[in-house]
Amino acid sequence: MKQELYEMYAEAGISAKVAEFGEEICESLKDRFAKIDEIAEINQIKVIRAMQKNQVSEACLHGTTGYGYNDMGREKLEAVYADIFHTEDALVRPQITCGTHALALALMSNLRPGDELMSPVGKPYDTLEEVIGIRPSKGSLAEYGVTYKQVDLLPDDSIDFEGIKKAINPKTKLATIQRSKGYQTRHTLSVNEIGEIIKAIKEVKPDVICMVDNCYGEFVDTIEPSDVGADMVVGSLIKNPGGGLAPIGGYIAGKKDCVENAAYRLTSPGLGKEVGASLGILSSFYQGLFLAPTVTASALKSAIFGANVYEKLGFSVLPNGAEDRHDIIQAITFGNADAVCAFCRGIQAAAPVDSHVTPIPWDMPGYDAPVIMAAGAFVSGSSIELSADGPIKPPYSVYFQGGLTWPHGKFGILKSLQSLVDNGIKVW
Ligand SMILES: *Cc1c(COP(=O)(O)O)cnc(C)c1O
Repeated sequence: MKQELYEMYAEAGISAKVAEFGEEICESLKDRFAKIDEIAEINQIKVIRAMQKNQVSEACLHGTTGYGYNDMGREKLEAVYADIFHTEDALVRPQITCGTHALALALMSNLRPGDELMSPVGKPYDTLEEVIGIRPSKGSLAEYGVTYKQVDLLPDDSIDFEGIKKAINPKTKLATIQRSKGYQTRHTLSVNEIGEIIKAIKEVKPDVICMVDNCYGEFVDTIEPSDVGADMVVGSLIKNPGGGLAPIGGYIAGKKDCVENAAYRLTSPGLGKEVGASLGILSSFYQGLFLAPTVTASALKSAIFGANVYEKLGFSVLPNGAEDRHDIIQAITFGNADAVCAFCRGIQAAAPVDSHVTPIPWDMPGYDAPVIMAAGAFVSGSSIELSADGPIKPPYSVYFQGGLTWPHGKFGILKSLQSLVDNGIKVW
């Protein structure tokens, strides 16, 4: 069997040395992977039970057009999400165009002029800076008279509970808590840590709405932030919960009035959740959600494999090879631009789509350095599919995530290593 695999790898341009090194790492990860499979199994049953409880039927997979009144499939899907997250309600729509849109919607619909928004865990994701108005933008919360307060993590990367309590004032209406570190250097929050932050906030002011940016975190654990007191959890369907099949979309699950505010803002006051045709998209939402627990497990295994491969070769990796995981993002620091580019070319060469194209760094809008991106995805920009990107500036790190299947994630990492070797970058 191993021989057959090595022959297949050889045909795909992977040398025996790289393949054998990969197998060695895999052997060492068996127990870790077994734990991930256990989490996936629990989440798989959770998803199936929610679909059964709501009596999802074949008719739910067909969409509506026009206004989309009485869209049974859409309504049941939202009930399924609410059951999975243990929330009162949910809004799950193709009209929510991406994660940033879902987050902006949750914030703008639940804040009013004169309110204050606070982030208890430092600077939020880049794209939210314009939503909040940290960087001035048309239609930002700041333009509408919503102020913003941020409490940074302490120098040792721990949560500043005292600072959080002090920052709360009579205007504080909503706290936005980002689970994943995104592209920052802080640690990703565990669900239990999020629970502690929420508890601290509510002790001071019980009516603060606690919203969690759940991007990249769904199904990584067996509990979600809404199980530890979050009033809203928000995310993108072209990440974990779409299972790779959803071609667009976002979700907001939470308290009934929070979700209603979001629905009134997404469509119109008075119309709310009642409109919004699902067109032909529901079967991909349902089937993607069904696959999401095992797809997330594949992405996690790929991240852990990548961490261990490059850690063993002496590169600095975040999270490290042994740490518990709370999201699917993996950072590797190479310290030089050539290695970042070679890594990304390897990931690209392993893709099912666009494997023949060569990624090169380019000046992306909104970034202060050229960025190289590798993505050969069925859904454009989908980052639950194996993808990587690296800003061409010190410390020359690359971030990768995804892998709809574990064999593909593994293949991608092996190709990245082979690409480093082939480009004369010293790894051994
Ligand atoms: C991806 C992401 C977002 C934004 O999502 P988009 O779909 O890219 O707009 C926000 N927060 C975090 C933590 C993310 O990972």
